[in-house]
Order: sequence, then structure tokens, then C-alpha cells
Amino acid sequence: MTTPLDSFQHDWKAFEQAHVWHPYAAMPAAVPPVAIRSAQGARLKLEDGRELIDGMSSWWAAIHGYNHPVLNTAIRSQLEQMSHVMFGGLTHRPAAELAALLVELTPTALDQVFFADSGSVAVEVAIKMALQYWQAKGSTERVRLLTVRGGYHGDTFGAMAVCDPVTGMHHLFAHALPKHYFAPAPGCPFSAAWDEGCITGFRALLQAHHHQIAAVILEPIVQGAGGMRFYHPEYLRQVRALCDEYGVLLIFDEIATGFGRTGELFAADHATVSPDITCVGKALTGGYMSLAATLTTRKISARISQDGTPFMHGPTFMANPLACAVATASIKLLLASPWRSRVAAIESRFRRGLEGCRGLPGVHDVRSLGAIGVIEFSDPLEMRWIQPLLVEKGVWLRPFGRLLYAMPPFIISDEELERIITVMSEVTHLVSHNHA
Ligand SMILES: *Cc1c(COP(=O)(O)O)cnc(C)c1O
Repeated sequence: MTTPLDSFQHDWKAFEQAHVWHPYAAMPAAVPPVAIRSAQGARLKLEDGRELIDGMSSWWAAIHGYNHPVLNTAIRSQLEQMSHVMFGGLTHRPAAELAALLVELTPTALDQVFFADSGSVAVEVAIKMALQYWQAKGSTERVRLLTVRGGYHGDTFGAMAVCDPVTGMHHLFAHALPKHYFAPAPGCPFSAAWDEGCITGFRALLQAHHHQIAAVILEPIVQGAGGMRFYHPEYLRQVRALCDEYGVLLIFDEIATGFGRTGELFAADHATVSPDITCVGKALTGGYMSLAATLTTRKISARISQDGTPFMHGPTFMANPLACAVATASIKLLLASPWRSRVAAIESRFRRGLEGCRGLPGVHDVRSLGAIGVIEFSDPLEMRWIQPLLVEKGVWLRPFGRLLYAMPPFIISDEELERIITVMSEVTHLVSHNHA
């Protein structure tokens, strides 16, 4: 009789494909996953010895590339002290130091830090904070959220309920989710002239329903997994003003945009707008470990905590010391690096390099902002042949829907970046040729 361990020993990849789920995948996955043995800098090393240039930063996270000596050392030395202790009733310096950095780097009023283990959970925490705030104020009717279409905030139930109801990957659960308000997606592109019409739908919804709205939640400037769209900073300024006018809290989800990706340290910095609650994750640990944080103001924490009321959330692995230590090291490494000019250089290379794809048959739009380059097609891409082709061409990109996009580690070399851009345009020409 063959046991599961026998099959694993015999052919671990076959075993893996038969038994292990992948994100947003059928079982087995339509396109078999690529097996990685190690990673270094902006390169992924495959089990079969080939190398791929990484254009994904492992979903926005690995901003310093892989296997970075400074980050490795941070984890190693924390490991010598302790890898984890519960955060209920106990505390440690790594959590305090990371909190100090986050409080220093985010807008002044945001100085109360809640650590969570993933971005989705940080969003759940933000929503709970808003709900508990209004509960404590006695406004029990304020239980809805207002967001915009085209958003993505995570995969847990609270977060799913504010993802785009159609393109947000969760329409299967629509019947089971709380109903929130959705304004039109911000229609005004980042670098176009501002058009007052962009905010009309949002304003109308807020005017009509503000008595029931606890908070507005948005990804500032960049709508990521919901469509990789970049919108105008004025939109955020107007949203802030409207939230103030109607006394509604404002939550920014900076999980994808935080730590330099858009060219500013946080995307909200493009608009110099300060939210009441903000979520960070993804690049927080430089892609080393799962960690996220939700920051809010003393005004909100004090209201929630009136009469000693606790805030009702407490992950088992809250503020994991290894994750906090590597996050602190990653942020310090970022701040000590010329990240601003690196990201600007990546942006201008994307801008020049992808421009040739604009206007091709089947290409809907070409855009870039910070270290993000996007080609949007008019039809969904056929992953079945495009994914293996990208690997064959030596780059790691993970297209989804109608999007072929890259967000490389900031440390990527000019040659590596050039290769990614070349492959993106080669594939675009192929898709376009098939389309025509
Ligand atoms: C990835 C992402 C999340 C969810 O983070 P997870 O760590 O995957 O749970 C939430 N919001 C935004 C904007 C994201 O990009």
C-alpha cells in the first residue's frame, strides 16, 4: 500500500498538485504552479535550475528582493531571543520599536497601533474599530460602510463585503455578505485634469445615507487587485472633506500601496490627506513574514475604550516578534536607501518601455505609477498559454483578468527591469496579434 508520505517521496510535485490548494485556484490548479528552490535579489531559482526575474515582489511585498542579508540578520538575532510569545498580557521591545516607527511615519494623529497577522485581518480590525467607535457613542444605526467600486480589501467576510461586488472575486458569496454602499469607481485618472464630476456619485450616496454610515473605506490612489487603476489625489481630498462634513470616519487601506510603491511612502501622501484609520501589510516586513497593522487616532481609541471597554479582537500570533523585528529592519533599510529615486526610475522606464503597446489591437490602456507598470487588455488573458510562456521567457509575472502588470522589487537592476519590459511587450504583441 502506498502511503501519502510514499507518494510524496516518490514525486513531491505530483503529490503537491494533488493535495495542496493554491490561491484562487481549482483543485488541481488549471496551470500547474512553478516550483521554486530559492530566491536571491530579484531572482527566483527554480527546482529545475532555471532562473526567473521577479516582476511581482511576491504580491507587492518583497520590496528589497529576496534573501537580503540585513533582513536575514534581523530575523536570526530575534530568533536567538524568542520567536513568539502571546501578546495577551505580555509585551516585547520588537513590537514597541515597530509601533514607534509606524507612528513616526504615518500622519501625526495616527498613533494607536493594533498588530494583526494579515492584511485581511487588518481590514477586519479597521471595520471593527469604526463599528465599536459608533457603538460607544450610542449611534447604533451606523453599521454600514461606504466604499467605491473596483476596490479590493481582502478575502475574509468583512473585507469581502467591501470588495467590488462584481469584479472583486467574491460574487459567489454575495448572498451571504452584509450590504454596504458602493459609489462609482473614482473615474479621474491620476495624471489627468481633475473633473468635479468624479466625486458626484460618492457625494450623493454620502448625503443620502450618512446617518447609517460608520466609515468610508478606500484604497488611496491605487486600486490594486480590483483592477490596477490610479486615480486623482483630489478625489481623496474631497472624500476627506465630505467625511468631515457628515461626521463619518475615513479608513485608508494602504496594504498594497504602503512603503514606497506609488512613489510616496504612503499613497495618501500624494494628497496629503490623513485618514482616521489606516491599514498596512504586504511590504511591511519586506515580504519576509505575514504581518499587518491597523493604526488609528487617540480620539477613536479613547472613545472605544471609555469606561474600560476592551477592543474586541486578539489574534493568537498578534505582534509576532520575528515579524516585528524584520518589519523594523525592512523599514529602516527602506528609509536608508535611495528608494524615492529608484521608484521614480522604475516608473519612467515603465512609462517609456510600455508606451509602444498603447493603441495595439486588443490593448485597452497602458499606465504606470511608481514601481507599477500595467497593460490592460480589452479581453481576459488566457493564462493557460501566457503563464508558461512568461516562465519560458525567464520572467515571473502573474497576469489576472484583463491585466498584465509588474511591480518589481525596488532593488531590481536596470537590465532585469529591461527584460521584464521587453517580455511584457512581446507578450502584448502576441495577444494583440491573436486579437486582430
Ligand atoms: C492584499 C490586500 C489585502 C489583503 O491582504 P492579505 O494579507 O492578503 O490578507 C487587503 N487590501 C489590499 C489593498 C490588498 O492589496
